[in-house]
Amino acid sequence: MAKERIAVVGGGLVGSLWSVYLSRRGFDVHVFDRRPDIRQMKIVQGKSINLALSERGWRGLDGAGIGPQVREVALPMTGRLMHGLDGSLTYQPYGKEGQAIYSVSRGLLNQTMVKLAGERDNVSLYFSHRCADISPDEKSITFIHEETGERTTHHFDRIFGTDGAFSAVRSRMQRMDRFDYSQSYLNHGYKELEIPAQPDGTHRMRKDVLHIWPRQDFMMIALPNVDGSFTCTLFLAFEGKESFEQLTTPEAVKGFFTRWFPDVIEMMPELTDDFFTNPTSSLVMVKCYPWHHRDAVCLMGDAAHAIVPFYGQGMNCGFEDCTVLDGLIDKHGDNWSEVFSEFTRIRKPAGDAVLELALRNYIEMRDKTADPRFLLQKKIEARFASRHPELWVPLYSQVTFTHIPYDQALRNGDRQEAIMQRVMSMEDIAGRWDSDDVETLMLSLVERM
Ligand SMILES: Cc1cc2nc3c(=O)[nH]c(=O)nc-3n(C[C@H](O)[C@H](O)[C@H](O)COP(=O)(O)OP(=O)(O)OC[C@H]3O[C@@H](n4cnc5c(N)ncnc54)[C@H](O)[C@@H]3O)c2cc1C
Repeated sequence: MAKERIAVVGGGLVGSLWSVYLSRRGFDVHVFDRRPDIRQMKIVQGKSINLALSERGWRGLDGAGIGPQVREVALPMTGRLMHGLDGSLTYQPYGKEGQAIYSVSRGLLNQTMVKLAGERDNVSLYFSHRCADISPDEKSITFIHEETGERTTHHFDRIFGTDGAFSAVRSRMQRMDRFDYSQSYLNHGYKELEIPAQPDGTHRMRKDVLHIWPRQDFMMIALPNVDGSFTCTLFLAFEGKESFEQLTTPEAVKGFFTRWFPDVIEMMPELTDDFFTNPTSSLVMVKCYPWHHRDAVCLMGDAAHAIVPFYGQGMNCGFEDCTVLDGLIDKHGDNWSEVFSEFTRIRKPAGDAVLELALRNYIEMRDKTADPRFLLQKKIEARFASRHPELWVPLYSQVTFTHIPYDQALRNGDRQEAIMQRVMSMEDIAGRWDSDDVETLMLSLVERM
């Protein structure tokens, strides 16, 4: 393939990974980001969003040869640990023995990946370059330098828009004929808080799990960091009885935490300072179609599909975009219009499905994980799956530990849920959940439904 000049607009998680993929094919890759050079920044772990990396993300990283470096800064979490109001702890494994999702600091991950991209001879990085506009047909991009205000226009053979949920590349495509676009916000927002390490640098809670405090209409989660701290995220409505709008004074915050999260308040010495220093952020969802323009422009990552974070799949899905697109370049060579149209055709349903899954998982995490019947249902499914792995892979495992397309996983999950509703309606299911009767019924339902 001829050495094309390619622009990657946005050097975040997906853009930096994709630039490594492109560089391995020998392209002349130019990555632009509006932020200053992240490699020069000091990343404070407990203060940065933590992300759960799972199988799809690892495949993306391994495909670019950078999995080993990321594994050094990732901590395995084998399951969820639910913290009840009464201090009780309930553990639910995420998958089979040996399976885990991995906690990584977003800042550290992005920094590591930009460093790795910058080490490639044919990748040029440009910071403080904000994409102001693109011309899709001329394949040109206009940047404004964030410090000097200088405006420059560059021409490329191909443009990839990896500039996140508020993508400037996509916003230009929105003005094109027959481009569909929708954006909506959840009425819940989130705030990052920190549980610092103990004085000897160790963790204050189990570090091999994702901690959840499910409180029906809201929840808090905590993911471990390698430096001994935890990054906590409180998800709460913006308005209403229990909401951010009520938490306007240090007393109100302390009262709220004492009431709802009594087992953590002791571990958060900076709670009120953090609460009022850290922003309350919103959660946006974006859908659009198509994800490309002819053979010129292609959207990837949050620029194409911004979802809510409750399945821990936004970045994983973006990394999977890289694996899939790379496979399509193998398939179609330099026929970029074919590469891009097939990418839109197969990834758009996947993007819509993962958003649906993420929305459903919010209810599961904040509400159902505290419900004994739901936990029983999961236990029955796990037992059946371990005895008949060829017949049953739980939905969570399909999404997290396999590469089954998200839209296929969603359909499989709906079918399994219908089966489980029948099983859960059996008389005295709690007393005989591990009996032969349950297994026989499930075997017959799997065959019939
Ligand atoms: C609270 C929270 C928790 C999450 N947890 C998880 C999780 O556990 N697992 C998971 O898989 N995902 C998670 N996600 C989602 C994940 O963060 C995103 O899906 C991921 O960051 C998307 O990567 P991206 O590269 O597409 O976009 P981004 O990471 O947003 O990167 C976009 C880049 O583009 C740059 N940029 C933006 N505009 C311009 C412009 N005009 N010109 C030039 N550059 C520009 C930005 O500076 C940035 O560097 C979470 C998200 C949130 C909000």
